Amino acid sequence: MRNCAIVGINWGDEGKGRIVDLLCSSYDYVVRYQGGGNAGHTVVNDKGKFALHLIPSGIFHEGVINILGNGVALDPESLYEEIVFLRSKGIEVSPANLKISDRASILFPWHKELDALEEERLKDKKYGSTKQGIAPFYSNKYQKKTILMGELLYSSNLDEHIKDILEWKNLILKGVYNAEPISFEDIKKWVEDMKEKIGPFICDTTKLLMNAVYENKSILFEAQLGSLRDLDYGIYPYTTSSNTLASYIPIGSGLPTAKIEEILGVVKAYSTCVGEGPFVSEWKGEDADKLREAGMEYGAKTGRPRRVGPIDIVATKYGVEVQNATSIALTKLDVLSYMDKIPVCVKYKLHGEEIDHFPFPSLLEECEPVIEYLDGWKEDISKIRKWEELPNNARVYVEFIEKQINCHIKYVSVGQERNAYIER
Ligand code: GDP
Ligand code: MG
Repeated sequence: MRNCAIVGINWGDEGKGRIVDLLCSSYDYVVRYQGGGNAGHTVVNDKGKFALHLIPSGIFHEGVINILGNGVALDPESLYEEIVFLRSKGIEVSPANLKISDRASILFPWHKELDALEEERLKDKKYGSTKQGIAPFYSNKYQKKTILMGELLYSSNLDEHIKDILEWKNLILKGVYNAEPISFEDIKKWVEDMKEKIGPFICDTTKLLMNAVYENKSILFEAQLGSLRDLDYGIYPYTTSSNTLASYIPIGSGLPTAKIEEILGVVKAYSTCVGEGPFVSEWKGEDADKLREAGMEYGAKTGRPRRVGPIDIVATKYGVEVQNATSIALTKLDVLSYMDKIPVCVKYKLHGEEIDHFPFPSLLEECEPVIEYLDGWKEDISKIRKWEELPNNARVYVEFIEKQINCHIKYVSVGQERNAYIER
């Protein structure tokens, strides 16, 4: 069976969790390959409404094995909280359906502390971090100043390794931020606690996935955030600290030979963006408030009001290209039903000229949106399940976007619930 990646095309929060939940019943594995507990993937299904942070969105389906790959920022503390929460809602989470790569690096409490201290130091120049420790985590990983999950199980010199890293961390905490040092005893206690809670989930997930390929099993890869937050191709420095692109899957998933036949990009029918950074088609004031309310655009992880605006074709087309998307799921079309005219940002104006390519990040601040309006449909479409039954203007809007971004829109989502979608 074909493997598939579900990735974000824009700034994140496009509805990836919802689409993974919809499609994963036909897959054997769901694998997260990057990012950490800063994700907020909302899933609404027959079991309730859930905001997932680290656990893959395949967790609700019996028989699906969920994997946290080596590329993930593995925060055992939030992971355990998530496990406890899901179990309290009657969802099975066990070492049989959740596996953690022994090569995943551990996100320690000091990563969160350093994240918060740095945002505080930056004041009005802050990056808009969710303070989950993601940036310090990934930078430490590349510095090789990290501990792997497998060390909890297999290492005979774990204490020494922790002491070495802690000595260096405390130099930074004290020297750079004048913060209190962290004691080895406290960390040791934390590690023991985490080992007890999370240890049973740790295994060699590369072996597992390689075997899955030999057995012709199918794998769904679930991304966090979107193209524009990719460390290398996004709106640097307002990106995340990992690669959100499908091209990172062979590295971060733990399946270095991964072949992905289908890359399904998730695009929201309008734009939203959480945190700082340039956002060319952003609306402010009353129009923004109306759209935010209609779409309930508040962060799943932080509760922060999301910045909103019309769909941005320039950014979306770029997002599709860098993801190498083969098809698109367009979400939240129902939210636009209240509008008389639907605005679309078709180009940018930069230094007096209209451009249709996504420029170098620092130029984005100087870009203005060029808006075209399409007719609205002004009726509730949330119960519609067939393409032909959508109002004509809604179809025109979808086809317009499809043409502009040059990628087939395969799914149109018209509600939060699992079955609220149209397949084309
Ligand atoms: P993710 O981070 O990409 O998984 O997206 P989020 O879960 O952060 O944000 C998407 C939000 O939109 C969630 O609250 C979803 O339940 C909701 N959602 C997804 N698709 C639709 C849709 O078609 N219509 C509506 N009204 N809500 C949707
Ligand atoms: Mg989200």
